Amino acid sequence: METMTWQNWAGTASADPVRRAWPRSTEEIANAITAAATDGLTVRALGSGHSFTPAAATSGVALDLSGWAGVIAADLDSGLITVRSGTTIRDLNAVLDTLGLAMANLGDIDAQTLSGAISTGTHGTGAGLGGIATQVTGLELVLGDGSVVSCSAKERPDLFSAACVSVGALGVLSTVTLQCVPAFTLAADERPMPLGEVLDKFGEFAAGNDHFEFYWFPYGKNALVKRNNRISRGAGAPTDPPPMPGWRRFLEYEVMENAAFGALCRTGRAMPSTIKPLNRFAAATLSKRIYSAPSHEVFVTPRRVRFVESEYAVPRESLLDVLAELRAGVARLAHPVMFPVEVRVAAADDIWLSTAHGRDSAYVAIHQYVGLPYAGYFKLFESIATSVGGRPHWGKMHTRDAAYLGQVYPRFADFLRVRDETDPGRRFANPYLTQVFGD
Ligand SMILES: Cc1cc2nc3c(=O)[nH]c(=O)nc-3n(C[C@H](O)[C@H](O)[C@H](O)COP(=O)(O)OP(=O)(O)OC[C@H]3O[C@@H](n4cnc5c(N)ncnc54)[C@H](O)[C@@H]3O)c2cc1C
Repeated sequence: METMTWQNWAGTASADPVRRAWPRSTEEIANAITAAATDGLTVRALGSGHSFTPAAATSGVALDLSGWAGVIAADLDSGLITVRSGTTIRDLNAVLDTLGLAMANLGDIDAQTLSGAISTGTHGTGAGLGGIATQVTGLELVLGDGSVVSCSAKERPDLFSAACVSVGALGVLSTVTLQCVPAFTLAADERPMPLGEVLDKFGEFAAGNDHFEFYWFPYGKNALVKRNNRISRGAGAPTDPPPMPGWRRFLEYEVMENAAFGALCRTGRAMPSTIKPLNRFAAATLSKRIYSAPSHEVFVTPRRVRFVESEYAVPRESLLDVLAELRAGVARLAHPVMFPVEVRVAAADDIWLSTAHGRDSAYVAIHQYVGLPYAGYFKLFESIATSVGGRPHWGKMHTRDAAYLGQVYPRFADFLRVRDETDPGRRFANPYLTQVFGD
């Protein structure tokens, strides 16, 4: 008999739903919701379980949407693509490849469902670009009473502004329409640089590159700087960097970033006194990589070493202060940190609960190898990030509640109003939503 227990990727959340349903149409989603209502049960949609927060956890009915996947409609002239809500980003990228289209920006991995990614405000990097939800132009949603509603900037605009990033609080997304762009090639430039230099040039790097980010090992002197830029005239021009051969990609990303790094992490976990030297070693062995590839191959890298993560969006102008405080605080932690800090950027947008709502943002993500103590580190980081009005990623670990979030999101009350209208009976409630949105 299949176990009902659900667990997320990081092992930080688990739940025992009363039952699971595997809907394969919008009608079946609606039927599963009304059946839950009849039995007095709550409902949560499951994505790929890649949130670190218990956002998808339920003790009621878990809707597994893995059988409700694929592209429904594609308009090659406009680039508008409508997909079923359980589609993963990986599968979508494969279809977009065949259509000569691409998503304008992506995060680090492609295992997430599109619905899970947009519902938590998943983002990549790019000072002039928004997160994945900013690429959404229309949504179809099944509400708590089983009714099906569509929304876009023109049709029920308030619902649309609320539903683009909603942590699944308003209903179950059945389809998502995205604005895609013509397929493009990225020239990738990844190289180690002294952290001081990266911080000095932070504004210049953010403004001067389509996609800029850096990783910093907390005890190392170097940061790994990634600058990815669109090759506008198409791939293959003589001045373009060459593609990375398959064997080198395997060596760089599978062996160095996953197998070898995983071995370092295991050593550090077994012997915590080695963590600081191993961390410095990892930072010192960072190497330069310059190549070009289709956009999603550059955006996405395999992540096989398990970790826990917290991430805050902070006003871009606060970033250097936040990092200076974090650097000073990390040196005093009781338990050392094995994983790097990741810094990314995004443009202001107008989605009500987008972490970049109304302000150009910098994202600071901190990680710890799974099984190593992290509470002190995450608490330190949270106190620094919240002192500048930081907004936690909806899918990454934090302890903020509705009272705090109401202060940092100007449209929070509007979101709660739409929640009251669309889900007055709280069919989609779970403890995480009660924490972040209240009862
Ligand atoms: C290794 C790793 C790398 C990551 N990299 C990034 C990154 O680069 N950038 C970034 O921003 N984040 C990143 N994340 C976080 C991740 O993108 C988000 O947590 C995302 O929500 C995961 O999507 P999912 O499909 O796994 O959704 P889940 O975690 O399963 O669900 C997330 C939320 O969406 C809701 N949901 C899912 N489907 C629906 C639906 N059809 N209708 C309504 N609600 C729905 C769920 O109920 C839940 O509340 C990463 C996470 C991991 C583990």
